[in-house]
Amino acid sequence: MAKIQMKTPLVEMDGDEMTRILWKMIKDELLLPFIDLKTEYYDLGLEYRDQTNDQVTYDSAKAALKYGVAVKCATITPNAARVKEYNLKEMYKSPNGTIRAIMDGTVFRAPIIVKGIEPYVRTWKKPITIARHAYGDVYKATEMKIPGPGKVELVYTPKEGEEVRELVHEYDCAGVAQGMHNLLPSITSFARSCFNYALDTRQDLWFATKDTISKKYDHTFKDVFQELYDTEYKDKFEAAGIEYFYTLIDDAVARVVKSEGGYIWACKNYDGDVMSDMVATAFGSLAMMTSVLVTPDGKYEYEAAHGTVQRHYYKYLKGEETSTNSVATIFAWSGALRKRGQLDELPELINFADCLEAATIETIEEGYMTKDLALVSTLPEIHPLNSEEFIRAIAERLAKKLEK
Ligand code: NAP
Ligand code: MG
Repeated sequence: MAKIQMKTPLVEMDGDEMTRILWKMIKDELLLPFIDLKTEYYDLGLEYRDQTNDQVTYDSAKAALKYGVAVKCATITPNAARVKEYNLKEMYKSPNGTIRAIMDGTVFRAPIIVKGIEPYVRTWKKPITIARHAYGDVYKATEMKIPGPGKVELVYTPKEGEEVRELVHEYDCAGVAQGMHNLLPSITSFARSCFNYALDTRQDLWFATKDTISKKYDHTFKDVFQELYDTEYKDKFEAAGIEYFYTLIDDAVARVVKSEGGYIWACKNYDGDVMSDMVATAFGSLAMMTSVLVTPDGKYEYEAAHGTVQRHYYKYLKGEETSTNSVATIFAWSGALRKRGQLDELPELINFADCLEAATIETIEEGYMTKDLALVSTLPEIHPLNSEEFIRAIAERLAKKLEK
């Protein structure tokens, strides 16, 4: 069988630990036998990041902007223990943070749904995709402990013109205070990414804040979304048969729990942080969450939502058997290949991505899965596999699908 051809290379960002091992297995067993794979390779493994003083991370993000589609392996975000373990020159920033800052994108996270892994919420039938605004609010806040009586004010000193003051509180006792901010361009980019992604995936978009209480801050988010929708997206949404829907965050939470799923839920930074963990857990497994960073002008970086699975890697290094779930990483590849196929008009590549995902889901639904899933699956007959056996089981089914 002739290998499937590509036009534009994918930006490939390799990573760390167990996911780096899975990365190679996925390429060797699931991609290279079938595709004449074109990638521009960046090694974001911690050793090479250290050798290049993290330049490789910046370069990879710029390449993602240049080519438009990237696929990323999980990477270590160094902490004090990692600095020691890898003898690092410095405690580099999170690669995901760096890439997000350069690409100015929004992260969309969605669960992969398979029979036998049942969501804890029994009404959920389709994935719920969470879009988290990744700038500002409490994550860039300034805080103060107030030792005793006195007054706290917000002061705006414009470049030109009159100073503006607002009283935060007149304290007659000790307390705390916090000042946070956001920026119109960032909120607008967030809104644009959400509208585009909804059109791209043909799903409704929900957005919720606490605008009844936060009449200027949250209300601005609501207004930015509404204005952009009315001026640029309303017609496109109607043509695509999808809906934009704004509600209060409390109402959204209640509706989400009673819903079937199948929509995008756009969240402010803090709401997205909290709700994405809730949604991921309620869908059954962190190892089944995909993640894609989308820029307002339609550049994409695909990855798994989980980390480098360090505990499994140390077992692997000792020569012990591992059973690490590669599904989210496989879906990062299929997502990136499908997008490349769409942009370059390569139906065979799109078909390959569909077959790869279908083969993966079929493998699990036929009872062949890694241990993390075997523990929670409700299927009557389950065959737990090790990391490599699972990928081979997918490869067999994939080859059959592609022959057809
Ligand atoms: P983790 O790698 O997500 O793993 C936490 C635990 O979740 C694992 O020990 C494992 O549980 C389970 N798990 C996660 N993914 C799994 C998979 N694919 N298959 C089977 N089980 C899976 O999180 P972490 O241990 O907190 O972080 C490890 C490193 O990853 C850190 O250095 C962190 O900086 C990095 N990280 C990177 C990203 C990213 O690049 N996007 C995201 C998060 C964390 P059991 O041990 O019980 O089997
Ligand atoms: Mg969180």
